[in-house]
Amino acid sequence: MTSKHEVPSYLTSHGIGPWGDYLEQIDRVTPYLGNLARWVETMKRPKRILIVDVPIERDNGTIAHFEGYRVQHNTSRGPGKGGVRFHQDVTLSEVMALSAWMTVKNAAVNVPYGGAKGGIRVDPKTLSRGELMRLTRRYTSEINIIIGPNKDIPAPDVGTNEQIMAWMMDTFSMNQGSTSSGVVTGKPISLGGSLGRREATGRGVFVVGCEAAVKRGLEIKGAKVAVQGFGNVGGIAARLFVDAGAKVVAVQDHLSTVVRDSGLDIDALHAHIEKTGSVKGFSGGDEVADRQQFWATDCDILIPAALEQQITAENAGSIRAKIILEGANGPTSPAADDILHDKGVLIVPDVIANAGGVTVSYFEWVQDFSSFFWTEDEINLRLTRIMREAFASVWHLAEEKNVSLRTAAFITACTRVLQAREMRGLYP
Ligand code: NAD
Repeated sequence: MTSKHEVPSYLTSHGIGPWGDYLEQIDRVTPYLGNLARWVETMKRPKRILIVDVPIERDNGTIAHFEGYRVQHNTSRGPGKGGVRFHQDVTLSEVMALSAWMTVKNAAVNVPYGGAKGGIRVDPKTLSRGELMRLTRRYTSEINIIIGPNKDIPAPDVGTNEQIMAWMMDTFSMNQGSTSSGVVTGKPISLGGSLGRREATGRGVFVVGCEAAVKRGLEIKGAKVAVQGFGNVGGIAARLFVDAGAKVVAVQDHLSTVVRDSGLDIDALHAHIEKTGSVKGFSGGDEVADRQQFWATDCDILIPAALEQQITAENAGSIRAKIILEGANGPTSPAADDILHDKGVLIVPDVIANAGGVTVSYFEWVQDFSSFFWTEDEINLRLTRIMREAFASVWHLAEEKNVSLRTAAFITACTRVLQAREMRGLYP
C-alpha cells in the first residue's frame, strides 16, 4: 500500500477532471477484484507520460508553440493503443484519463492491446492545411521514440482524421527509413487503411444500442434519438439509427442545438455540416438557445458523442431517455451515474459502446501485418459479433453481481489487465 504523500500530485485528483472521474470508477470496482486488488494501484498510475513542445512556423512567418502529450497508461496485455486529439481544451488530466479508458476498453472487448492516448492543445480549425501538416509532423517526430507498430499505435480522435493519420504514418516512416503502415490506424484505404474503419465506432454504438433496446423492450423503428456531437461517431450512429427506422429529434454540436420532434433530415444535416462546419443555421429544425435544454429532450435513446464530463449531477435529473449509449469517452460523471441508475436509465458505458473503433483498428493492424485485406462484409460481421459478445458477457456479469454495466465492464477489464500484470510479474 502506498501512502498518500508518496503519490505524485498529478495522480491524486480524485473528483477533479476526467482523471478524477476515472479514479473514482476504479475505486468502485476494487471491492470486486478479489486477490487481484493488491495490484490495483497499477490501474491508477500511467506507465509512461511524455509531454512535448510542438513548435511550428505559421504561414505569416511567426513561430507558435503548442503543448502535446502521449500517455501510455498500461501495456501489460500488448502495445499501447489509442487516439490522438487536437482540441483547444486538451489537458494532461484529460489525456491520462483517455489513455486509461483505452486500457479498460481494450481489455473489456478482449483485443490484445494496452491503453494509450495523445493530444495537442490546439484548435485545429484556426490552422491552415499547411500549418496542420507541420504541427502533425513535428508532434509525430517528438513522440517518435515511444510509438511504433509493436509499441504504441495512434488513431484518430476528436479533431483528427485520415489525412492526419497519413501524415503521421509518413513522418514515422521517413524517420525510420522504411514504410511502416502499422504504426497508426484509421489511415486512408490507399495507405493500408481498413474498409469499415471510418464507420466502425458509430456502427458499434448502433449494434450495442440494438442489443440494449431488446433488453428494454424498445422498438428501434419509431424510437426517438438525441445525439450530442455530430462528428465521426455521432454522425454515423445517427445515420444507422435512421436507416433502421428511428427518428433523430435533437442534435447538439460545439456551436448550436437543433431539434425537430418529427425527426431531422439526416442527409440534409450532414450536407449542411459539410458546408458550414456546424449544425448552426440548419434550416430543417428549430435552434434552441439554452444548451442545457438538450439533456431534457423527450427521447428514448440519448447518445453523448462529443466530449467527457457532459452528463453531470446538474443535468442528469432532467434526462428523459430510457437508454444512454456512450459514444464519447467519459461523458458521464460518477455522481450522474448514480442519479441515472436510481431513475432506471440503462447506460451502455463508453468502454463497451464505443469499442467498435478500436476493434476495427485492430483488424486494420492485423491486415497491415499480413498485407492481406478483408472485404467490408467480413469486417462488419466480425465487428458485430465482437460487439454483441462483449455486450452479452457484460450484461450477464452485471446481473450476476447486481451491478451496473459500467462496473461489470470494469470488473471484466481490470481482471484481465491485472491477471496479465500478475502473470508477467515485476521486473527486475
Ligand atoms: P469528431 O471530431 O469527428 O466530432 C466531434 C463532435 O463533437 C463535433 O460534432 C463537434 O462539433 C462536437 N463537439 C465538440 N465540442 C462540443 C461541445 N462542447 N458540446 C457539444 N458538441 C461538441 O470526433 P469523434 O471522433 O466523433 O469523437 C467524439 C467522441 O467519441 C470523443 O469522446 C472520442 O474520444 C470518442 N471516440 C471516438 C472514436 C473514433 O473512432 N473516432 C472511437 C471511440 C471513441
